[in-house]
Amino acid sequence: MNEQTRSGIAAPAAVHYTIQARQPQAHLFEVTCEVARPDPAGQVFSLPAWIPGSYMIREFARNIVRIRAEANGQVVALEKLDKHSWRAAPLANGASLKLVYEVYAWDLSVRAAHLDQTHGFFNGTSVFLAPAGFTGIPCTVDILPPCKVADGWRVATALPRVAGACDAAGFGRYHAADYDELVDHPVEMGTWQSATFTVHGVPHEVVLSGRQDCDLERLCADLQRICAWQIELFGLPAPMQRYVFLTMVVGDGYGGLEHRASTALLVSRKDLPYVGMKDMPEGYVSLLGLFSHEYFHSWNVKRIKPAAFTPYRLEVENYTRLLWLFEGFTSYYDDLCLLRSGVIDTAQYLRLVAKNISTVLRGSGRLKQSVAESSFDAWTKYYRQDENAPNAIVSYYTKGSLIALALDLKLRSLGSGTVSLDDLMRRLWQAHGLSGRGIGEEEIFEHIAAVAEHAQAGAGSETANWLRALVEGTEDVPLATLLPQFGIAYTAKVEGSVPWLGLKHATRGVDVAVTQVLDGGPAQAAGVSAGDVLVALDGLRVAPGSLDAQLGRYPVGAQVMLHVFRRDELMQFSLTLAAAPQNKVELSECEDGLSPATQQRRSAWLSGQSSS
Ligand code: ZN
Repeated sequence: MNEQTRSGIAAPAAVHYTIQARQPQAHLFEVTCEVARPDPAGQVFSLPAWIPGSYMIREFARNIVRIRAEANGQVVALEKLDKHSWRAAPLANGASLKLVYEVYAWDLSVRAAHLDQTHGFFNGTSVFLAPAGFTGIPCTVDILPPCKVADGWRVATALPRVAGACDAAGFGRYHAADYDELVDHPVEMGTWQSATFTVHGVPHEVVLSGRQDCDLERLCADLQRICAWQIELFGLPAPMQRYVFLTMVVGDGYGGLEHRASTALLVSRKDLPYVGMKDMPEGYVSLLGLFSHEYFHSWNVKRIKPAAFTPYRLEVENYTRLLWLFEGFTSYYDDLCLLRSGVIDTAQYLRLVAKNISTVLRGSGRLKQSVAESSFDAWTKYYRQDENAPNAIVSYYTKGSLIALALDLKLRSLGSGTVSLDDLMRRLWQAHGLSGRGIGEEEIFEHIAAVAEHAQAGAGSETANWLRALVEGTEDVPLATLLPQFGIAYTAKVEGSVPWLGLKHATRGVDVAVTQVLDGGPAQAAGVSAGDVLVALDGLRVAPGSLDAQLGRYPVGAQVMLHVFRRDELMQFSLTLAAAPQNKVELSECEDGLSPATQQRRSAWLSGQSSS
């Protein structure tokens, strides 16, 4: 036992915070930030404008409701400098400076903060003001119990505790090496349920908040295999000392945000496994895919980072053209890991890949924007999608995962098949993850060339150029050619069985409204627009759920009259019904006529072994 534990609580650091669920019913956290030796010229504080992992300016400071500064019990003048910064008046006599402020927390997402009488959740980026000049030094934070008695509330977080300074429920003092670490450990408090498992000596905890009937034993058993596979992919030891899945269970939700030793997740109740559940329902597979995705980020983006993120600049957009690598490759491995770790079978895996291929083919935005451009413009396009998104944007997640698959197959085709994408990931881990040195925007192509060159002399620059064309260009990923070389049949079909209007629609009350109008479709050609309320097709009402049946009675090429309301004005359009594009892809294992070499390549890819 050391001095700290005998005295009960360790001394606060030179930068010390407290946070308390002060008024859960009003969704208010009270936060203090005390700086022992503030800037003599006037201490500046600021709150991040965005949270790493979610590339959009969110201006979290708009949720600061009241703020004041004090020293020695006296009020200190506080000047607002811009939308997220304040400066306290200079202090005499080396007094310490304390900010006291309230943060409104009513954003039920993994990105911000949420507080009510049932639980509290926060990301540090939403609640902890950064004192300028002190973000590189250690800090402490006291997570205080709620003001009103909240029976059974406990704290769950991967933020390290100060030894002996927390009570049994986890309320007490925590520490971080710097501000970057402080805001990289989200915190959940409430009456959550949890279960633990160990992988390669690392304790993992699954925390579930919200009402649920999850079969935690099943969930942990599946996660254990997934986590073990990922740790083994990059090599022991695991980069974290413990890991926490902070999971908020809701009626309808899906999302996750990665952190260095934890992830915050939002999942649908119906997707959780239940006691007695048979097989692997689709919803559970996609839930495991989400857990797997965020866990893979522990390596790919939390430690292997673009140079543009080392360090993060949290007050402005941080531009990189490489999100196809950090999100796309992670999206490839999140599902592949389920197969390789034995959680799903090959048929299930091929369905997931086919779905990704179909999703990319459905959007004509893929013909206009490369995944490199999509990465760079994530801040204003991918994260701020409107009704025109399918016509204008390509997802660096989905197309990026297809590029990863194509590169994996390409590498496996070189030489005697001894090299794969796994080797590239391990190389990035060795060269960047372990050292923390960011990857330059061009450097990734050098790594790819080196891995390819290792497989086959002379293949390096050709492979790197091939990949560069895929990420910088708008050509479709050549999976229809590559997959059959690995014994996978690729079939493109027409989606649905009715003539095509080229629009998406949704029920709004008793109305059916157009939500998206797709490039090249009859609806766009005629002038039908997003927001139009569909009234009638050839004089017969379009009711919720009726449109497909109505369309199904016409042949392709038929002329129809569509009535819509726009701005309450009745408009009519004449449309020529078209055949739906062939963008539904199906994949299956070819069984007949496969050469032994192809069979071997396929099983090497699916199992993760090398061919030779
Ligand atoms: Zn991700």
